Parts: sequence; structure tokens; C-alpha cells
Amino acid sequence: MALIELENIYKTYGEDEYTTVALKGVDLTVDNGEFISIMGPSGSGKSTLLNIIGCMDVPTKGVYRLDGVNVTTLRDKELSRIRNQKISFVFQHFALMHHFTVFENVALPLWKRELSKKEIKEKVDHYLEKLGIAHLKKKNVSKLSGGQKQRVAIARAMVAETDIVLADEPTGALDQENGARLMELFCQMNEEGKCIIVITHDEKVASYTKRIVRIVDGQIHSDTKGERQ
Ligand code: ADP
Ligand code: ADP
Repeated sequence: MALIELENIYKTYGEDEYTTVALKGVDLTVDNGEFISIMGPSGSGKSTLLNIIGCMDVPTKGVYRLDGVNVTTLRDKELSRIRNQKISFVFQHFALMHHFTVFENVALPLWKRELSKKEIKEKVDHYLEKLGIAHLKKKNVSKLSGGQKQRVAIARAMVAETDIVLADEPTGALDQENGARLMELFCQMNEEGKCIIVITHDEKVASYTKRIVRIVDGQIHSDTKGERQ
């Protein structure tokens, strides 16, 4: 069974004469442990597609099966439960909680789970250590550099231990060196079995992935194996 199965997905924004059809019949199947980049011109529907895969938004038409469950028919509450269980996000501008510490930001996905404070602390410490940011744990995230912030965002995605990690232009606000480091981390997570899907404009970023899906005007234009395959 595929992990992600999109069948003839349409997404329309707006009403009446003001509509934009952002996705026009997208079919996409993704298996466990894949590492994919989504590329395409600005406005082609990449973020819309990622938002639908991430259960942040629902398609106007079509069926989305996540781990065999048709999520298009679920209520908001169920949808957010599945999202929290299965999906982590990494964003271009990190989406951290500015007035909180590194520890608090990384611990965020764990508060909703039934874990003791000790268990939370152990898990968070483990991933801070793994990413080499344990020394920053008590710092306010607003005091960090871009590269450090993105490491915090990755630690937060790792601590959730979800099968799927979605990233929208995760290297967009980083310099080349930090961008390359970030992609190495994604490779490592992928080797550990995570399914990773990254939106990027950057061919160099895409070259780290195993499959490249190109979108043009709301449709899949090509779907090819990457260099790492
Ligand atoms: P990309 O990520 O490839 O830049 P998007 O998925 O953000 O593309 O957008 C695809 C199209 O849908 C664009 O024309 C964009 O303006 C439109 N769009 C995206 N989100 C919304 C929204 N929330 N409301 C209205 N139009 C939107
Ligand atoms: P990126 O391409 O870096 O993902 P975008 O500028 O395409 O960023 O979109 C950022 C956010 O704004 C997305 O959540 C998208 O859904 C929303 N958005 C994009 N275009 C529109 C629009 N025309 N109207 C309303 N929201 C939009």
C-alpha cells in the first residue's frame, strides 16, 4: 500500500469570476521512505499541493489516501489528529515561536502526546544533541542565526518522529553552506526511513533527492528519478 495516494486532485481558490484553479487533476503516488523534490515556476501550485499532502488544506475534487485512509472525507478534528500523528513541516522562514527557547520550540509537537515531562526532556535532549545545538537549549530562538534556526526547526520535525516530513523552500533563507548542511540532514533522516518531500527552486537542492516532480500550471509536467537513485 502506498503511503500517499493522490487521485485526480483539483484545488480551486475563490468564488465566481474570481477563482484560481491551482491544481488541475494531479495524480501522485508516494511510497514509504521516498525522498522527493517538487519543482516548478512560482504560482504553479507547489505550495497548494504540499498543503494538501500535509492535511493543512483539502482538495476541491479528487481523492487523497494517506496510509490507506481517505482523508478527503474527514472532519477537521480527525484531519488534525492524523496530521499530528503522521506529518511534520519545515518552512522557509522556520515558523518558530519567537518568544520561546530552543528547548520549548523543539518540545512543541510533544505536548499533545501523553508523555511525562521526563520523557519529553529525554527526547528533546536527544535530538538537540544529534543536531549539535544542545548548548543553545535555553536561548531564545530570536537570538539565533538562520542556520541555527533551521536546525531548531529540523529538531522539532525529528522529535515528532512522524513518517512524513514536508518542507516548503527550507533552504530559501539560508546561505549555500547552511543549505547544503540542511540537505545532508534530510538525507540522513531519509536513510533512517522517513519520507521527505521538499519544494525547491534550486537544482542543487533537488540533486540531493531521489525523485523530482515538476509542476507547471497546476499539472504534473514530469516525474523523474533523481541523481541519488
Ligand atoms: P507555488 O507554491 O508554486 O508558488 P501556490 O500553490 O502558492 O504556487 O499557488 C498556486 C496558485 O494559487 C497561484 O495562482 C496563487 O496565487 C493561488 N493561490 C494560492 N493560495 C491561495 C489562496 N489561499 N487564495 C487564493 N489564491 C491562492
Ligand atoms: P512560496 O511560493 O514561498 O510557498 P507563496 O508566496 O506562494 O510562497 O505563498 C505563501 C502563502 O500565501 C501560501 O500559504 C499560499 O497558500 C498563500 N497564497 C499564495 N497566493 C495567494 C493569493 N493569491 N491569495 C491568498 N493567499 C495566497
